[in-house]
Amino acid sequence: MAFDFDLFVIGAGSGGVRAARFAAGFGARVGVAESRYLGGTCVNVGCVPKKLLVYGAHYSEDFEQAQGFGWSAGQPTFDWPTLIANKNREIERLNGIYRNLLVNSGVTLVEGHARIKDPHTVEIEGKAYSAAHILVATGGWPQVPDIPGKEHAITSNEAFFLKALPRRVLVVGGGYIAVEFASIFNGMGAQTTQAYRGPLFLRGFDQAVREHLRDELTKKGIDLRFNTDVARIDKQADGSLKATLKDGSVIDTDCVFYATGRRPMLDNLGLENTAVKLRQDGFIEVDDEYRTAEPSILAIGDVIGRVPLTPVALAEGMAVARRLFRPEEYRKVDYQLIPTAVFSLPNIGTVGMTTEEARAAGHEVKLFESRFRPMKLTLTESQEKTLMKLIVDAKTDRVLGVHMVGPDAGEIVQGIAIALKAGATKQVFDETIGIHPTAAEEFVTLRTPVAQ
Ligand code: FAD
Ligand code: NDP
Repeated sequence: MAFDFDLFVIGAGSGGVRAARFAAGFGARVGVAESRYLGGTCVNVGCVPKKLLVYGAHYSEDFEQAQGFGWSAGQPTFDWPTLIANKNREIERLNGIYRNLLVNSGVTLVEGHARIKDPHTVEIEGKAYSAAHILVATGGWPQVPDIPGKEHAITSNEAFFLKALPRRVLVVGGGYIAVEFASIFNGMGAQTTQAYRGPLFLRGFDQAVREHLRDELTKKGIDLRFNTDVARIDKQADGSLKATLKDGSVIDTDCVFYATGRRPMLDNLGLENTAVKLRQDGFIEVDDEYRTAEPSILAIGDVIGRVPLTPVALAEGMAVARRLFRPEEYRKVDYQLIPTAVFSLPNIGTVGMTTEEARAAGHEVKLFESRFRPMKLTLTESQEKTLMKLIVDAKTDRVLGVHMVGPDAGEIVQGIAIALKAGATKQVFDETIGIHPTAAEEFVTLRTPVAQ
């Protein structure tokens, strides 16, 4: 049977664009549907605008710290609408780049909501497109628990477009997005409270990292409330909000920001017209080559609920394009040692095992840790401390995990991730000459294990 396309991709986000561009580059006839925004979550309401807001939020500290270096610039003022307008302009520029990338690589872009009609047909705005393979790369969507007053809450989708900076914000959740936005709002000057249901946020990160960040965020003035959750939200006569927590306490606020995880975006996608199976948690079930239970349909990225990070979606998109259209270059995605950063202020950078994971996996571990006040802050009033930590297998000397909380942690840990991928031992770290004076050199000068 002759199809209109060799591959039809649903979703022009991180994974979809990568798969489409590379498949077209390998000579395939490729179509892409996008219903909302080119570049997907990361470009429009994720990594990119978030990082711009984090940069913006850090200026409040920069102005303060500059005084220690002799600068005085009067009383700094911050204008949220200016930041949002400039951010929007930059995102529009990136949308244009994504459009050009797709069109110039020969991909047919169809703007509109795609619905799968049958295992080889996608329908967009009443028009049907047939394809040998359909790739579902529709990403995720914020999930807010069903509590009374949830309609008064916002999520990251809306936060990027707020008309004004709220004077008071309550952030709910304890994952990446909650911690990052608590830092953003706090840095911009909003009175910020963060409520998390468990005993300590960032479940799954190294315990020392979690505790360190807790202490640093507290020093910066964020009111952290653990072991509690929002029971209800009520709108007050003056337009402000009252959040009643499960422990009975009440928080008066102007904005309740929810970051309690993301669900797969499968709305009106037509999966019921296929044999595609979902996992128990609702994400699309795929095998290790991203094949669903329907032979012609593949899925990648956030919608498969494996590792919801942009570089992972990119790698999965590339793998699909290669396996289908350039099999001689196909390599499976390696999910080991994926480095990651949380762009809180200060940042977290991490790669490899946490202490808890290493022990649970049966490793006898040696821990190396350094906590120090970064040199840049020594002339300032800031009491912010950096944490650096190495987890080493006592038997093989292999470095199992590297963790940092401090300025530019993501930038530093990205390089170290390469060393870990190459199997570096602690001895290799020790034999590496440092770059002086940097914070990063601490990673090659940690000599004495800390008491266990
Ligand atoms: P997406 O990028 O979400 O793309 C899916 C696309 O499909 C969307 O454009 C959507 O409109 C479209 N679509 C959905 N349904 C249809 C349909 N039926 N028809 C047509 N089009 C459809 N990751 C990082 O690595 N680093 C970060 O710093 C980071 N920060 C983040 C901050 C926030 C606030 C959020 C929410 C996420 C962040 N992420 C970050 C995660 C990252 O954005 C995602 O992992 C990544 O975007 C997933 O890519 P994807 O291709 O799976 O889906
Ligand atoms: P996460 O899964 O990281 O965190 C969700 C948080 O919400 C957890 O603290 C969870 O608690 C809590 N939670 C879940 N359900 C409820 C509920 N019903 N009531 C109260 N609390 C609840 O999700 P995010 O939304 O923060 O981010 C989604 C993903 O996007 C991240 O996992 C990450 O992969 C990616 N991302 C990456 C970033 C980066 O690379 N810097 C930045 C932002 C997002 P508990 O732990 O107890 O389950």
